[in-house]
Amino acid sequence: MSWRDVMCGEPREGDVGRTLTLAGWAARRRDHGGLVFVDLRDRSGLMQLVVNPERSPAAAELAKEIRNEFVLQARGEVVARSPETVNPKMPTGEVELQVDELTIVSRSTPLPFQLDEEGVDETLRLRYRWLDLRTERMQRNLRLSGTAVAGIRRRMEELGFVDLWTPSMTRATPEGARDFLVPVRLQPGTFFALPQSPQLFKQLFMIAGFDRYYQIATCFRDEDLRADRQFEFRQLDVEMAFAEREDVLAVLEEAVRAAFEALEREAPVAPFPRLTWSDVMARYGSDKPDVRFGLEIQDATEVTRGSEFGVFANAPCVRFFVAPKALSRAELARLEELVKEWGAKGLAYIVVDESGEMRSPIVRFLSEPELEAFRAESGSTVLFAADESRAAARVLGLLRSHLGRELELVDESRDEFLWVVDFPLFEPDEETGGWTFSHHPFTGIAPGHEELLESDPGAALSQAYDLVWNGWELGSGSIRIHRQDVQQRVFRALGLTEGEAKEKFGFLLDALQMGAPPHGGFAMGLDRFIALLAAEPNIREVIAFPKVSSGADPLTGAPSRVPREQLEELGIRLLEEPS
Ligand code: ASP
Repeated sequence: MSWRDVMCGEPREGDVGRTLTLAGWAARRRDHGGLVFVDLRDRSGLMQLVVNPERSPAAAELAKEIRNEFVLQARGEVVARSPETVNPKMPTGEVELQVDELTIVSRSTPLPFQLDEEGVDETLRLRYRWLDLRTERMQRNLRLSGTAVAGIRRRMEELGFVDLWTPSMTRATPEGARDFLVPVRLQPGTFFALPQSPQLFKQLFMIAGFDRYYQIATCFRDEDLRADRQFEFRQLDVEMAFAEREDVLAVLEEAVRAAFEALEREAPVAPFPRLTWSDVMARYGSDKPDVRFGLEIQDATEVTRGSEFGVFANAPCVRFFVAPKALSRAELARLEELVKEWGAKGLAYIVVDESGEMRSPIVRFLSEPELEAFRAESGSTVLFAADESRAAARVLGLLRSHLGRELELVDESRDEFLWVVDFPLFEPDEETGGWTFSHHPFTGIAPGHEELLESDPGAALSQAYDLVWNGWELGSGSIRIHRQDVQQRVFRALGLTEGEAKEKFGFLLDALQMGAPPHGGFAMGLDRFIALLAAEPNIREVIAFPKVSSGADPLTGAPSRVPREQLEELGIRLLEEPS
């Protein structure tokens, strides 16, 4: 005998009269004095079982024992429900199974939470993840993830990309995070690093002549966990030889569209807009702008050069945007708190009230041309930042996002994909006072900008690009350096001695000397992309077995202590016993 003839969600009116066997979980059991109703659930849906003591006394006796989440097998006849008991909300709602034989296949202890319960504590959900994953939400999310990834894979294969595997135990790859290290028993005192990305391996594939590589790669980064960040995550990792930037962007646009199409949704129209980094930083104060609302930033550095308001006159850069509301004193005080948290010294503003009058402590210092430049409609507020240009952009960018949400200016019906291109090659390294890479050290330099490496590193642009969806960065990539001498100059500009560069990246430098084609690629964070597709605010809702924000896994209890002998074998002694 097979376990089941059809899935629970399948029987319809046309099946009336058939004798069928179903198997699944007891989602709900109702006892109506004699008659017992059970909603039997499997991945396809629910089917109502009716156990009638007159029809099957043995089944009725057993049915008394059924509790939620017991696994049952039931054989019986599909019958039409009487009109008043038809449930139009259930696809199987016109029929029910009159049970002749019932088996309790597997029992469940009392549940830590009910599957239809709202607001269950997340740690509890994760501790009993196998139950949590039975909920409609988690079933939907993980299936959506599977469907989207399958669609992406199919498209990548159609486009001639080959799926190649790269090691998880390797050397550090500099993507800007801390490494997870793996101690090595055979050589105590040495460590593998878990890859922050397959970056160097995929470049080696290009040098090796594979031409088009992709992989759904797991990457490991030791960073503080957040709503959109886990220690380990998946990327659609791509690399192409003899490719220009536009070739790479077109492939990624196809991958994104493939995911939408696999989910039977309208795919975003390609090509996505390309905006330069300097443009988005100036207009949106962010390298991942949400362009579903306005509040565009404007520059007022010129007009405030001779200002009597010292803060403006002396700042390297003055910028502002106009919020479409005359903000109250209390609202402005709260915003001032916020910008101080973000590192600004204060918040200059001008409120234009309903009568068009400009109210602000700074108005009396401003000249006619200044006031003219800031004139906004009645019922609005002009908000300023006066600082170094990066700092001014950052604060106004955060303020813009905050007010976009707060004032409900975001048009949620829109989906905006865009590319940010022409990033700077380096950014200031706060810690060392030197330069650090904006993307990673293998990123190509914008044509004609090589000379700036030595003369003005901060002004050099790169060939990096980011993909942004509704204000979320989905991933980054670049055309790479394929010349050994240029790669060495970049290492030097980053403060690496020749010895250090050789020690860390000698294999790459060697490979770049043995026929390296021009190449470039991209990596898209899949978990974030899928969370957005699933309209989930947190990537933990689309990952089967995630860690909580402390980094722990409530399910398995990892990370855990290990026996002393195991550490000794690895040549490790602890400075402190874990608490
Ligand atoms: N390796 C990069 C990352 O993980 C992506 C790339 O440059 O292809 O962000």
